[in-house]
Amino acid sequence: MWSREDAGRPAPLDEKQYPALAAEWEPGLPALPCCETEPRPAYRLRQFQIVECRRCGTARVDPRLRAPVRLERIYNRPDYFTRPAGRRPFFQPLRHAIWRRLVSLYQHPDAQQRRADFIQRFVPAERPVRFLEIGCGPGKLLRALADRSPQWDLTGIDPSEVAARACREAGRRVFTGTVEEVDLAGERFQAVCAWNVIEHVDDPRRFLEWIMVHLEPGGHLFLHTPNYGGLMRRLYGTRWFEFKPEYHLYYFTHPGLTRLLETVGLRRVYPERVRWIDDAGHQIRMVAQRQLSAPGGRREPRAGVERP
Ligand SMILES: [Zn+2]
Repeated sequence: MWSREDAGRPAPLDEKQYPALAAEWEPGLPALPCCETEPRPAYRLRQFQIVECRRCGTARVDPRLRAPVRLERIYNRPDYFTRPAGRRPFFQPLRHAIWRRLVSLYQHPDAQQRRADFIQRFVPAERPVRFLEIGCGPGKLLRALADRSPQWDLTGIDPSEVAARACREAGRRVFTGTVEEVDLAGERFQAVCAWNVIEHVDDPRRFLEWIMVHLEPGGHLFLHTPNYGGLMRRLYGTRWFEFKPEYHLYYFTHPGLTRLLETVGLRRVYPERVRWIDDAGHQIRMVAQRQLSAPGGRREPRAGVERP
């Protein structure tokens, strides 16, 4: 059985399962985005391994598939947004049914409406707001926001042409590509939402730097991502259902994500204080705010800014 002590070099490629995979690895991965530590091996998942930061626990996949392979095989599959998520523990449907029932007692039973409720706790629903959703998929959240706040100016970005097409057919303004491929020409937003996105991106720090360029001072960033520090990962280990090394490239903890946000000039405003229940949870839901005036005369962020 695989244990932490066995972790070392990645296992030889399984040619039967992934023919010609060797040509599909991305060479030279960026450093971990959080702390300046040498990562330690944590898990092996088939021919992938998970390495984690010794200080804050943020983890990433190593090695990983090249971006064009991920786009073609995964995101452009017509069923990417509809097929059930990977292997799940057998009692999970029951657990989810109970959870949904409990949630519906005090929150909206529809997930997109709950997201919209959450966003509008921070951003006034009645004012005109420029809102950007990165990874908008087929546009369910944009639709929920358009229905409740018609004066909001809504924009979406998604790397999947399949998803972007569905959005455009619904009349939304959507760009196809990753954030670095999309040219918004200095456009700024009061709120940016990236729900279950940051675990997919090639370089989370560059991703956040791009957001800083397009976020107004005082604007809010909404992030949602699996919690690598949570109980589920600790209980399930290699069978944790968020381990999807073909496309979940990074796995965050509360301290790691908070630190990363701070390095680009964002301040966490939710959760105000990370309680044990947040830390044990299956997901990280975090809101950060761009400071009105940058402390210490920090320069305005620019596109393509060099790392410190
Ligand atoms: Zn770290």
